[in-house]
Amino acid sequence: MRVKNPPPAKYAFGYKRPPQSGNAINGLNEPEKRRARHVFHNATGESLPWDALDEFFSQINVWGVVKHMLANVWQMRRQEGPVAPQQVQVDDPAAMARDIKQVAKNLGAGIVGITEIFDEALYEGHEVPYKYAIVIGLSMDRSEMEHVPHERAAVEVMRAYREVSRIAIELSEHIRDMGWPARAYGNPNSTDILHIPLAINAGLGELGKHGSMISKEYGSNFRLATVLTDLPLAVDAPVDIGVQDLCATCQRCVLDCPPQAIFPTKQIVRGEEKWYVDFDKCIMYFTKTYGCAICIEVCPWSEPGRGSWLMETLLAKRKP
Ligand code: SF4
Ligand code: SF4
Repeated sequence: MRVKNPPPAKYAFGYKRPPQSGNAINGLNEPEKRRARHVFHNATGESLPWDALDEFFSQINVWGVVKHMLANVWQMRRQEGPVAPQQVQVDDPAAMARDIKQVAKNLGAGIVGITEIFDEALYEGHEVPYKYAIVIGLSMDRSEMEHVPHERAAVEVMRAYREVSRIAIELSEHIRDMGWPARAYGNPNSTDILHIPLAINAGLGELGKHGSMISKEYGSNFRLATVLTDLPLAVDAPVDIGVQDLCATCQRCVLDCPPQAIFPTKQIVRGEEKWYVDFDKCIMYFTKTYGCAICIEVCPWSEPGRGSWLMETLLAKRKP
């Protein structure tokens, strides 16, 4: 899809003295590996350089968004809880992984993957006492998201966050009832973990040029939540669905991003070469437009029913 006449990248708001660049906080051009630092949207209580803009973003939210946010905060009180004293023994982690994925699907999950937790998936200064991450993806309603950038799409984004968080919470409760510790992590306000690196390692998709994840099922038209646990589970492997092949030549998101925030080539970020979005340019437009999301909706992978065809076509082109 294409977005007709998006608002211009001109702002009636701004900082008198701009805060530290979000790109520096994110580690753009840093050759050494290190963990990520919080930059926007976080629920840790720590003060961040871009807090004022984050506050402004919260205040201009329409009621439909606020309603889902409040319900999400309320349900997240169940993200952890007591663990049943009787522990279900796990002799076959692969069978348990299949069972857990089925439970997640029965609760409403669209896609589910499992990975061991690794260092780069944790924020600096944060540790978690768990071994595994179960990452859950839930599709957004494309007919609502076609309205980006607009309050209507913002309401759908928050509805999806609330719903995928609900699935993660109920899955964590199911695991605790089996006698294993588990904690659900919802979105968009992050605390300990980065959902996208976990989701990529869990085989849900690949990172696209627009800085979001692309899955073959939903493109980028989905939201994530995660359950951390010690329940013994077989893990999934990262996938290659051809995203890098298409992003190497496609410019759709780069051209359609009104503030021109998307780098056309990979950048060095915290010691890794990867696709990257200029935080300082994106966040101003993101705030003005209730969460923007143009780049994820114009991406050809987000066209319903197109992902599997794109994957097959792109992978077939590699054959000699
Ligand atoms: S979300 Fe950010 S990167 Fe994506 S189109 Fe909007 S401004 Fe550009
Ligand atoms: S719009 Fe094109 S370049 Fe951007 S993420 Fe999607 S496939 Fe990659």
